[in-house]
Amino acid sequence: MALLWGVFCIARICLAISSLDWYNKDSKNSKRGEDMEYSMIDSHAHYDDEQFEKDRDKLLTILPEVGIGLVVNVGASMESCKSTIALTKKYPHVYGALGVHPGSVEELNEDRFVWLSQAVRQEKIVAVGEIGLDYYYDEPDRQLQKDWFARQISLAADVGLPMIIHSREAAQDTYDIMRSLGCEDVGGVIHCFSYGVEMARKFLDMGFYLGLGGVVTFKNARTVKEVAAYAPMDRIVLETDCPYLSPVPYRGKRNSSLNLPYVAEAIAQIRDMDVEEVCRVTSENVRALYRLDS
Ligand SMILES: [Zn+2]
Repeated sequence: MALLWGVFCIARICLAISSLDWYNKDSKNSKRGEDMEYSMIDSHAHYDDEQFEKDRDKLLTILPEVGIGLVVNVGASMESCKSTIALTKKYPHVYGALGVHPGSVEELNEDRFVWLSQAVRQEKIVAVGEIGLDYYYDEPDRQLQKDWFARQISLAADVGLPMIIHSREAAQDTYDIMRSLGCEDVGGVIHCFSYGVEMARKFLDMGFYLGLGGVVTFKNARTVKEVAAYAPMDRIVLETDCPYLSPVPYRGKRNSSLNLPYVAEAIAQIRDMDVEEVCRVTSENVRALYRLDS
């Protein structure tokens, strides 16, 4: 049953992609989402990325038709924060998060932080992020990353928005800073969760959601598959992190929200669940995480 629905869903997406030209010619006759029984939410995407330069509008326009009812576009630099705001204004089904990624904190200064502090208060901005620590590369300086991580956590607390955490090869420092600043009172998601079950338990104990994406479909991703099996179903959200991290069978190619069913299908298989149920529950989780119904 789960497999059948997955095939159906993917087939519908293929059909939708092949009708992009038809959309251009005759968008008036399109039936937008009328027969959608299940709808998925992409909790983390970067449609401001230049890889979407040629077809951004076509892609974003078609998403509700193929069952991706809502997308949260996540800022990672000052420029992408501005683009994110523009996307939320242009598309009813696009919401935004604003923050500066640990890899880009060198561009932050007091004036820009003031701008960010005001910008997150806008309508349709549902989170502060992505913020965090990334020790994969030696730069930027780790202390600088920690300082701006802490400042942006405090901003999330001040404005009462959940936070989107990016943490790579920095589990303990991420956890320690979050604990010391009382992140359990603010809440949010550890996006593209890449640590093991032990760390998962610690972040879950703080009340955080775990974002799972294309990596869960990789054959060799044993750790992430273990976490997908371990985490309570009501604490998992689906994400693409597009244009990055395409799931199998598109690994290595540009990713988009159209590939989200592959992630849902992988989680359904790991947990021995119906894929419809995975979509339904994870969509509810995203709504709760970003407080979309309140
Ligand atoms: Zn991201």
